[in-house]
Amino acid sequence: MNILIINSGSSSIKFQLIQMPSETLVCSGLVERIGNKDAVLNYKNETIKLKQIHYINNHKQGLQIIIDLLLDAENGVIEDIKEIAAVGHRVVHGGNTFSNTALVTPEVKQKIQQYAPLAPLHNPSNLEGIEIAEEYFPHAKQIAVFDTAFHQTIPTKARKYAIPNDLYEDKDIQVYGFHGTSHKYVSEKAIEYLKLERSKIISIHLGNGCSMTAIQDGKSIDHSMGFAPTNGLIMGSRSGDIDHSVIFYLVNSLGYSLENVNNLLTKKSGMLGLTGYNDLRDIEKEAEKGNIDCLLALEMNAYRIKKFIGTYVAAMNGLDAIIFTAGIGENSSLIRELVCKDMDFFGIELDKDKNNGKAKSIREISTSTAEARILIIPTNEELEIAKQAYCLLN
Ligand code: AMP
Repeated sequence: MNILIINSGSSSIKFQLIQMPSETLVCSGLVERIGNKDAVLNYKNETIKLKQIHYINNHKQGLQIIIDLLLDAENGVIEDIKEIAAVGHRVVHGGNTFSNTALVTPEVKQKIQQYAPLAPLHNPSNLEGIEIAEEYFPHAKQIAVFDTAFHQTIPTKARKYAIPNDLYEDKDIQVYGFHGTSHKYVSEKAIEYLKLERSKIISIHLGNGCSMTAIQDGKSIDHSMGFAPTNGLIMGSRSGDIDHSVIFYLVNSLGYSLENVNNLLTKKSGMLGLTGYNDLRDIEKEAEKGNIDCLLALEMNAYRIKKFIGTYVAAMNGLDAIIFTAGIGENSSLIRELVCKDMDFFGIELDKDKNNGKAKSIREISTSTAEARILIIPTNEELEIAKQAYCLLN
């Protein structure tokens, strides 16, 4: 069965065609800068890799270009659109409604719309992707996989904020959690790899967005992001945890509008605010040259992660393994080293040689005597979406 996975963002569409149940990647690609004259399409399949520049006005045109390529006589991978049996969509926010993957119905779409104010940068584009796919693939099943679903198991004591109860009960203000598809995928891989029946795992997803999850016996029990994907760890341009008094001070004493504060904390803070660079590769290069801001930002970033590790070891009363995943987690040996430094109290001991090696699959980088294992596991949210879609349909 061919399943097309679509991750529709505000100005991009990421896609993969995956054959299930063999989990074979048929092709993958990304359309970026939608809305621009020089939108970029990157595409690869088993035999070719190509990059094209198109004028892509909107998501509908973006998806049309993707479909044309899938069907292309020279570079395509299918002969008929009907060869795609299902389209799996990444949806960021499923509120309290979705603890599982859902077949898209008018009610499901209405809920995704309803939760748009909780994920204004994501849900509207996710929904648009679904509606366009419904039009282009009328014969295919449309399936929504929610980032928040994996975190529905977080117990109430960790889910609720200490604010008046009616805001939780009537207004749904609470921890939802994000990157659930990634945390689920890598933690299942870890459990399989470590052959654990009972497990206490901390999954550390460090990409453009960064989050951590405490996962006990395969279930999310606490998570560093909350109501929105903004708090917790220091991210590329998001501040992560900050005392909310700062917001009032910015507004009441420094004359910021709420929109400016939001922009400041989500787009101009984090590693960007601390160093002037958003990409960790640039920050590492600058740190090597002795840039003090970059050196401090790396320390701060790792220190925040260490604090969450401590919190989650306490929450689970133990630790079997920590997992590093996503762009930074999989690639930055420096961040992994800083995080794991002086953590032997928790049984975390990094083997520096193993940490520096490269591999595309699961890699264990703890010392042979460490009590807690340290794993690098490449995340694959698209494959996880395909697995869940396949599971729902079979
Ligand atoms: P993701 O959101 O998972 O695609 O991660 C993207 C981020 O990973 C980029 O913004 C970079 O900061 C980071 N990244 C990717 N490759 C490397 C690398 N080789 N070393 C350090 N950071 C990296």
